[in-house]
Amino acid sequence: MIKMKLTAPDHILSITPYLPGKPLEELEREYGICNSIKLASNENPLGSSPMAKIAIENALKNLNRYPDGSGYYLIKGISEKCGVSPQNIVLGNGSDEIISMLSQVFLAPGSEVIIPKPSFLMYDISVRSTGAKPIYIPLKSLSINMEAMADCVTDNTRMVFLTNPHNPTGTIITKADFEKFMAVIPAYAIVVIDEAYIEFARESACLNGMDFFSEDRTIVVLRTFSKVYGLAGLRIGFGVMSSRIAELLNRIRLPFNASSLAQAGALAALQDEDFLKKTIRLVHEELDYMFDALDRLSIRYFPTQANFFLIDVKKSADEVFERMLRRGVIVRSMTSYGYPEFIRVNVGLHDENVRFLETLKEET
Ligand code: PMP
Repeated sequence: MIKMKLTAPDHILSITPYLPGKPLEELEREYGICNSIKLASNENPLGSSPMAKIAIENALKNLNRYPDGSGYYLIKGISEKCGVSPQNIVLGNGSDEIISMLSQVFLAPGSEVIIPKPSFLMYDISVRSTGAKPIYIPLKSLSINMEAMADCVTDNTRMVFLTNPHNPTGTIITKADFEKFMAVIPAYAIVVIDEAYIEFARESACLNGMDFFSEDRTIVVLRTFSKVYGLAGLRIGFGVMSSRIAELLNRIRLPFNASSLAQAGALAALQDEDFLKKTIRLVHEELDYMFDALDRLSIRYFPTQANFFLIDVKKSADEVFERMLRRGVIVRSMTSYGYPEFIRVNVGLHDENVRFLETLKEET
């Protein structure tokens, strides 16, 4: 038998795997530390919606059954909350999965996809996995350069990714800029507006993709339960899109991609206005507190409309990251995003933010 080395197509070999932030327990084990705080993955510091937790507990008794493959009740709940019809909603195992499904359905070798750089790494991975070509457009003053993105559209453009607010910079797209952008985007290109952090935006000029969605537009709005609802571990998100796009996605969607616990938890979380308000209030109050403290320390940071922001540490971000890590404060170095002197930190509970600021002061 001839022995051949197992390989994969070049477009798969070109993918750099997604590197998630390490779980707390693993870091503590590795570094021999305890009582560490994680401000690295833009999670909800308050925990999860209490109503979601009760609903999940109630749903446990039916774990022997397959979930509702159509996601009927959750889709109905989202439909009422967002004012769109159920045929316009597709559930995903996190909004990650919607990105992946969109790529699988609409892209092929020869397709081009316009992506801001830096941005959320799943766009790159999903696009490359289909053999399509990512076209990167650098940010301009940390914001998506909408004009440059529009200028790159060709006959082969099949998708454009926008993130609002943007990760990792926290900047937004204004309604006015989005309208100008849409006026020149051809109907054969799907415009994906990823709004994982939209609930935290307080700037009134901020685009809300849902306002621009309509049945005859090739716009897909992505939302998640991972951030403001505190359900990142449950893996549930959704996309709002025309019924034609939804119908195409449903052809390849795994039959039970949203688990029964995820459906029950997310539906309850949607109704938990109290938790939503508490989370948003905490994030805004603590952002104001942290910015104030950083001003007093003369440490440069960048304003944000999300629950995280960038800090210019004016030295190697990798080194600052490593030193803070050894003291049990986990942030994200932005070196791999092209900002070797920036760290990204998300808002934690007040005591966590105090500890972060003290550690930052001593380590920069
Ligand atoms: N989009 C952006 C911009 C994100 O930052 C994230 C999470 N880090 C996601 C999408 C994915 O979220 P989910 O947990 O719903 O897959």
